Amino acid sequence: MTTPTPPAASPTPNGQPAGAPNQAAPNQGSSTAAKALAAAGDAESARDVGALDDAARQAAARLGSNRTSLVERLIYGPMPDTSELQSGAVAAERAGRRGQPIVDAAIACLQRGEAFTADGKLSSELRAAVTKEKAYGFTVPAEFGGLDGRYIELALVEEDLAANGFGPLAVEISGELTIGAGSLLAYGTDAQKRTFLPLIVQGEMMAFGLTEVGIGVNAKKVRAYVEPDPATGGFRLFAMGDRNKLWITNATHGGLVGIVARVGQDGKQVGLFVLRLPDQDIPASAGLGHEFSCVSSNTGVFTANYNSRLHFLNFPISKDQQIQADGVEVLFYCLRMGRCMLAAMASGYQRMFAADAASYAKSRDGVGGAVIKHELPRQHLGRMLGGALQSRALSHLSLQQDADGTDLAGLRDLTKSAAATSALESQIACERVIGGRAFDRSSRVHEARGNMHVFGVVEGEDDLILMGMVKDVTDTFTSRYMAGMLGVIQSINEGPDGKPLPAERRLLRLTPGTLFSDPKRMLTATRRLLCTGSFWRLKGWIAWNGLIELLRLPLLVVPTRWIPRYQLLPVGLRRYARFAETRLRWIRWAYLGTNLFFQLELTRAQIPLQRLGKVIEQLVTMLALCHHSAHHDQSEQNVAALQCEQLMTRVKGNRLLTGLFQMQRLRGLVGAVGDDVEKGQNSLIADVAPQPVAHVWEKRERKKKG
Ligand SMILES: Cc1cc2nc3c(=O)[nH]c(=O)nc-3n(C[C@H](O)[C@H](O)[C@H](O)COP(=O)(O)OP(=O)(O)OC[C@H]3O[C@@H](n4cnc5c(N)ncnc54)[C@H](O)[C@@H]3O)c2cc1C
Repeated sequence: MTTPTPPAASPTPNGQPAGAPNQAAPNQGSSTAAKALAAAGDAESARDVGALDDAARQAAARLGSNRTSLVERLIYGPMPDTSELQSGAVAAERAGRRGQPIVDAAIACLQRGEAFTADGKLSSELRAAVTKEKAYGFTVPAEFGGLDGRYIELALVEEDLAANGFGPLAVEISGELTIGAGSLLAYGTDAQKRTFLPLIVQGEMMAFGLTEVGIGVNAKKVRAYVEPDPATGGFRLFAMGDRNKLWITNATHGGLVGIVARVGQDGKQVGLFVLRLPDQDIPASAGLGHEFSCVSSNTGVFTANYNSRLHFLNFPISKDQQIQADGVEVLFYCLRMGRCMLAAMASGYQRMFAADAASYAKSRDGVGGAVIKHELPRQHLGRMLGGALQSRALSHLSLQQDADGTDLAGLRDLTKSAAATSALESQIACERVIGGRAFDRSSRVHEARGNMHVFGVVEGEDDLILMGMVKDVTDTFTSRYMAGMLGVIQSINEGPDGKPLPAERRLLRLTPGTLFSDPKRMLTATRRLLCTGSFWRLKGWIAWNGLIELLRLPLLVVPTRWIPRYQLLPVGLRRYARFAETRLRWIRWAYLGTNLFFQLELTRAQIPLQRLGKVIEQLVTMLALCHHSAHHDQSEQNVAALQCEQLMTRVKGNRLLTGLFQMQRLRGLVGAVGDDVEKGQNSLIADVAPQPVAHVWEKRERKKKG
C-alpha cells in the first residue's frame, strides 16, 4: 500500500500546495513554515501547510520519541556514537530468520509454477502458501493470531521476497502490515483490533484509501465525506465522481479498507473508517439506496497486485467502524514503517538485478571477452550492489532507531528517497549489462521496471519529502533563531490595516540593493531586527559556532588513522565516514546561508532546499554504508567503499554555500521556461496536442494568490 505524502512545508516555506478550504490562517501554534508562508502573503499555502504540519505533529506526539533525530544531531550535534550508527546492522544480525519459511514457501510455489496467474497476477496459491506461514500476520501480536514479529525481521523478509522475484508480494504484505494492521494497532479500539486483525492474519486484503481522483499529494484536502445516519447512529459515505478513491493498492471485492473521509461535506475534521468492501458492485439499479463499485485503476505498475478505483454513494458505515483519529495523522504515523519497508524491498529488487546481471555478464561474451571482464559493466554491477546495500543499511538503521524510541525525522524520508533513487538507477544499470534481454516479457527485470519508477512517487514523491526532511531536521534551529526575523519581514509587508501588501509591493528579500530601492522599509526592518531577541540569539549562535569551527580547523589536517572515532571502522571506509560527518556538520552553515541569502523568497525556492536535502541524503547514506558494512565481510565492504566513492563525487558536485548565486541563476532560467509553458508560449510544444489525462477531475476555481 503506498500512500501519498503531502509535501511537508520547507523550513521557511516554499511553493507549497494549496490549503484546506476552511482552515483559519495559521495561529501561534502553527509551524514556522506556515507562518513564513503567511509572512510571504501566501495565505492559502500557509493554511495547507499548517494543516499538514498539525497532522504530522499529532502523529509525532503519539509516537512520543525520547531522543532527537539522528540526522538533526549529525548536523547540529551532539555527534551520535558509533554503536548507535551500527545499531541497525547489529539488530539485523541478532534478528534471526523467523520469516525464512515465508520466503521458502513462496519459492516452492514458484518452482511448482503456481506463484503467478497467466496474466501475471499474484496467485491465490501463493497467497495461501505464505498465509500458512503467517506472512500477513508477521508483525501482528500473537493474541490476534499473528507471529508477533519485529519490523526489522519483516524488513529481512520483504528484502528476500523482492530479491527472489516476489516484489509484488512484498508490496502487498508491507501494505497489510505497515498501514493496515499498523493503523489498527496504534489507533484502533480493542473491539476493532479483535474484529479486523485476525482477518488480516488470515490473509484478507487490507487497503488504505486516501488518494482521490481530485486530490493527490495535498492529502488534507480530501473531499470524500461522511454524514451522520440518524437511522443507524452510524454514517453514510460519499465518494462519488472525482471524490472516488484512486489507485488503492490491495483494494478488492470482499477485502478490508481504511477510508480517509471528511466528517461532514465541509467539515474540518478528516476521519478514518475501516470497512469491508462488498463482494460485488452495487449499482443504483440494485435499489439498495446506496451504491458501490470497485474497478481496476488501470495502472501500468503494481500490475501483479490489486489496485483499484473505489466509488461509494450513501454507503452505510456503522459507528464502530470509525477509527477515533485524524486520517492524515494516521497516515503520517504509519508512513515511517511504510518507507522503511519500501527501502527493504528496493534492496531486494537491486540484489535481484545484480544477480541476474552478474549471471549474464559472466556467461556472455562482449567485445574482447566476457562482459564481466570490462570496467563499465563492473561499475554498473557495483551500482546495483551499492544501491542494495545502502537501501538495506538505511532501512535497518531507521527501524532500530524507531525501536529505540528515537525521532525518525529526516531518516525516514531520506531512507525512502535514497532507496527509490538507487533502485531506479540500478534498473538502468542492469539494462546496460544485460542489454536486450532485460526487456524480454518473461524477464523479472522487465517486470520490475514500472515498480522501480513508481517507488519514487508513492509513499511520498522523492523531491517533496527531501524538502520536508530539511524542514524537519532544521525546525528546532529555525524556530529558535530564525522565526523572529520572519516576523520582521512580515511586518514590513503589511499595510497600515495590518493586511498583506499586494504581491508586487511585497519585499521577500532584504539585500544591499533594497537600501536604494526602498530605503524607508529597509531602515524600518533594520530597526525592528535590532530589537528582535532571536536576531541577537542568532548572532550569538554564529559567533560561538564560528569560534568552534575555527578551533576545529587544525583537526582537518590530522590523519584519519589518528582519530579514535574512525578506528572502529574498516580501514577502507574511514575516510568516507570522516568526510560524511565533517560535511554534515557544515550543513548547519549551508542551511543558515541559504536562509540568509533567499530569506522569504525561500517560500517559493524549492531548488535550493531540494539540493540541500539531496546532499544530506547522500552524506547520511555514506555514513550508514560505512557503519553497516563494518559488521560484514570484505565483499560488502568493497561494495560500500565503491558506493561511498560515487556518493562523495555527487556531494562535491552539489555546491551549496558556494552555489547560491548559481542556484539563483538556475531558478531564473527555470522561471523563464516555466512562465513560457504556463502561458502556452513554448514553441517546442505549441503544435503538440496533449493526451487527455486518465481519471479526469472537476476543475475548480483557483483562488488568486494574494
Ligand atoms: C501504483 C500506485 C499505488 C498507489 N497506492 C495507493 C494506496 O494504496 N493508497 C492511496 O491512498 N494512494 C495510493 N496511490 C496514490 C499515490 O500515493 C499518489 O499518486 C501520490 O500521492 C501523488 O498524487 P497524484 O498522483 O495525484 O499527484 P498530484 O497530487 O497531482 O501531484 C503531481 C505532481 O506534482 C507534484 N507537486 C504537487 N504539489 C507540489 C508542490 N507544492 N511543489 C512541488 N511539486 C508538487 C507532486 O510531487 C507530483 O509529483 C498509489 C499510486 C500509484 C501510482
